[in-house]
Amino acid sequence: MIVDFRSDTVTKPTPAMLEAMMSAPVGDDVYGEDPTVNRLEALGAERFGMEAALFCPSGTMTNQIAIKVHTQPGDEVVCDQTAHVYQYEGGGIAFNAGASVRLLAGDRGRVTAEQVAAAVNPDDVHKPRTSLVCLENTSNRGGGSCYSMDEMKAIRSVCDEQGLILHLDGARLYNAIVANNEDPKDYGRTFHTVSLCLSKGLGAPVGSLLLGPADFIKRARRVRKVFGGGMRQAGFIAAGALYALENHVERLSQDHAHARTIAAALQNNPLVESVLPVETNIIIFNVAAGKTAAQLVAQLKESGILAYAIAPQQVRLVLHLDISPEMVDHTISTFRKVAAN
Ligand SMILES: *Cc1c(COP(=O)(O)O)cnc(C)c1O
Repeated sequence: MIVDFRSDTVTKPTPAMLEAMMSAPVGDDVYGEDPTVNRLEALGAERFGMEAALFCPSGTMTNQIAIKVHTQPGDEVVCDQTAHVYQYEGGGIAFNAGASVRLLAGDRGRVTAEQVAAAVNPDDVHKPRTSLVCLENTSNRGGGSCYSMDEMKAIRSVCDEQGLILHLDGARLYNAIVANNEDPKDYGRTFHTVSLCLSKGLGAPVGSLLLGPADFIKRARRVRKVFGGGMRQAGFIAAGALYALENHVERLSQDHAHARTIAAALQNNPLVESVLPVETNIIIFNVAAGKTAAQLVAQLKESGILAYAIAPQQVRLVLHLDISPEMVDHTISTFRKVAAN
């Protein structure tokens, strides 16, 4: 048995999802004529109470389009030091938008309204113009940690006072929504724009949605074309994303329960020094002295358990819809066996 915890991006389409993809009506989406893409964009916007949406090939593209549209070259973007937009998008903020970055030291990926307020530059010709704040919910490097709605609203208030735009990298936003029983429309009210991945825990093979006001999405559509993201009969992949939105949201709670079960077992395993708090579908743990994370990951791989060493002593496991209850049991017993060796 192979159990793949490397990421929630590794899922394969279910037979029902594939069937929906194979039978999707399609057209040329660059002409705005793909009925399935149009349905997906309308559903995404409607769920979050946003005016419009744009279907893109990746979450990197939706984030980078948002940053490009919201900034001018030389502006400064404020985000946590672990943010995906800064750490894992190939320097795209500089490359695509010509903007600089102010990094904040948050708590497991989450920054506070006070930190944001203190990071805004004064109106001074020497200083880059602060124009955009990017939050990430859930936080990937924070181990799937979630913001409270109150903190996000407080950060929006700071943005309103200072004339800043607030963008959300919601690659795993539905994990937060399900875990905390939130209303997606609250996100539409709190953020100017939101990026939502459909190819993470929701299980679609490809795609992300960018959500926002109609005039923003109109500008974003132009930037998507410039970035080479204008796709033609994209309805085939949009159908997988649509299926995921309609069928795979509530089941995320299963992944969260699996993550808690595994984390509880790891807490009592001598291989493990400590486990970060588990709030959603990600487990990050520190490996006990005597072994490096890379060594443990290699040993687990021999037993068919795939994970990532994300730091010299840290391992990350990500739950998703291709991990069954049997695989969870198998994983816990494998960890025990490796510890006993
Ligand atoms: C995965 C991820 C993205 C987008 O990644 P793509 O692979 O480009 O779709 C963005 N933000 C976070 C936090 C992510 O985990």
